[in-house]
Amino acid sequence: MALVQELVERVTAWFGDAARDLPWRAADRTPWGVLVSEVMLQQTPVVRVEPVWREWMRRWPTPADLAAAPTADVLRAWGRLGYPRRALRLADCARAVVERHDGEVPRDEDALRALPGVGEYTAAAVRAFAFGRRAVVVDTNVRRVQARAVTGVALPAPSYTAAERRLAASLVPDDDATAARWAAASMELGALVCTARVPHCDDCPLRTTCAWRLAGFPADEHAARRRTQAWEGTDRQVRGRVMAALRGAESPVHRALLADAGPPDQLDRCLAGLVEDGLAETDDAGRYLLPA
Ligand code: SF4
Repeated sequence: MALVQELVERVTAWFGDAARDLPWRAADRTPWGVLVSEVMLQQTPVVRVEPVWREWMRRWPTPADLAAAPTADVLRAWGRLGYPRRALRLADCARAVVERHDGEVPRDEDALRALPGVGEYTAAAVRAFAFGRRAVVVDTNVRRVQARAVTGVALPAPSYTAAERRLAASLVPDDDATAARWAAASMELGALVCTARVPHCDDCPLRTTCAWRLAGFPADEHAARRRTQAWEGTDRQVRGRVMAALRGAESPVHRALLADAGPPDQLDRCLAGLVEDGLAETDDAGRYLLPA
């Protein structure tokens, strides 16, 4: 227990000096701003999220504002953050907050998790970062820090395990304020210092106790099972090109003008997928456009 306490104290003290000054951490942050940031940050780095988040909060500072926004505007404002279904889910989430909670993001974990697009991670992050409550907040950065500093392995298993969840829960301090700070601090340590490729151990507050470092940095036992995600030639790349063309178009776009996005069969598959996902529509002439 004393070791856990020391680990928490070291990381939270380090965070006091090292924390990045991010707008969704500012004193005037709102629970809605925190929720939007967490959804955007799930698959996109901070540097790309920050300008888009600022623009979203300027245009739609409350759930009611986003709930009333046209889908095409929402998708245009999402820009190149990737995985644009997240934008649709955020709009669905905004409508649910308006309908079920009078436009206020709920504090209760079950109510949060019942919102569209809000899973275990996002609900915990909103509780900790928006409301300062105790929650077990585990993202890929926290998993890596835990794996190295406590378990003594290079990287966590490819999928989140029950053992990791138990370990994460055992590290969370009892009181709300320290728990919320630990959540932010452990995530920041993984993002800035204990990074995936090259950990900066000399700058790490855990360098004298880190189990992986003390064991001599044993190799990643799951290396063979880790897939690096290819991008070139994937449906994701083609879908991204189509979405960029539709976002930039002032009028509906004929399929022939999208031919550069990918090979014909793949383009047809991607167009059908985008329409099915609610990210694009066709008009009477069969041209493509963002949903109204
Ligand atoms: S000492 Fe190095 S490997 Fe261990 S937690 Fe710190 S940065 Fe990560």
